[in-house]
Amino acid sequence: MAMNRIQFQSGLSMPAFLNQFGTEAQCEAELEQARWPHGFVCPCCDFTDASVFRVGSHPTFQCKSCRNQTSLIAGTLFESTKLPLTVWFLAIYWISQAKTGLSALALKRLLGVSYPTAWLLQHKIMAAMSERDAQYRLSGRVDMDDAYLGGELNGGKVGRGSENKVPFVAALSLDEDGHPLYIKIAPVPGFTSEAISAFAKDNLEPGSAVQSDGLPCFAAVTEAGCTHTAIVVGNRKPKEMLMFLWLNTVLGNLKTSLSGAYHAFGFAKYASRYLGAFAYRFNRRFKLDQLPKRLLDACIVAGPCPAAWLRSAEASC
Ligand SMILES: [Zn+2]
Repeated sequence: MAMNRIQFQSGLSMPAFLNQFGTEAQCEAELEQARWPHGFVCPCCDFTDASVFRVGSHPTFQCKSCRNQTSLIAGTLFESTKLPLTVWFLAIYWISQAKTGLSALALKRLLGVSYPTAWLLQHKIMAAMSERDAQYRLSGRVDMDDAYLGGELNGGKVGRGSENKVPFVAALSLDEDGHPLYIKIAPVPGFTSEAISAFAKDNLEPGSAVQSDGLPCFAAVTEAGCTHTAIVVGNRKPKEMLMFLWLNTVLGNLKTSLSGAYHAFGFAKYASRYLGAFAYRFNRRFKLDQLPKRLLDACIVAGPCPAAWLRSAEASC
């Protein structure tokens, strides 16, 4: 089985992670190294010497030239947090290692924090995942499909045209042997040419060779400089078509992974974040042991308010 190589790879064990990031001092050193790889640099005057003291629980650097003060967590995803960095790092570890996704409720229990805090941690980290993955586009051979999330548990009609569902588009790039490489998934306002054109411009390199079923809107990928081949499936469901086997396998995994999240408050509102987090993890599935560290780096550079992150009237965590 081709997938066994992924399923049986060794991840980063909890003891190994705690060995590296089990204390606040270790987490602070990691963050400092990531922010200033060659030592402290004042954001105001570029001076490289500072005195370090603590305001609250996190270190603050005061430039010895201009006396500007910079918190270690300023400008990162952790900005203004009152939580210890060890809690953030553990949240990042759990989210990076959870193959089937992790609910805010599970995170609350694992970390011993309140539910609102767990929700914020989860959503900020998922926003950082989405933001990092948005920097990449698919190229080469790409299979595309339309699907819905969230409606299965509410009953009602299944498939296109059903109610109370989040419509989304998935694109999966394949290697020369037809094995899956990378995925892009995003909610769309509807299955229209405008929506597909916008999705393709955001997510596909010009020149990609897109294959889809016969839904007319998919032809709009040509507006993004891609070629398009429609495979007419007739009365057969796409999942019965061999050429869409991998895409439908991945979409099945996605639905399993998010089935718990369907119940979450605001699932439809935050669908792009759930989808982006799933894609982030899928796209790095060959390097499970490196995932926690890479996700840490993504959180550090994501900034305090990632573009995908907006929710008013939230308490800070
Ligand atoms: Zn300075």
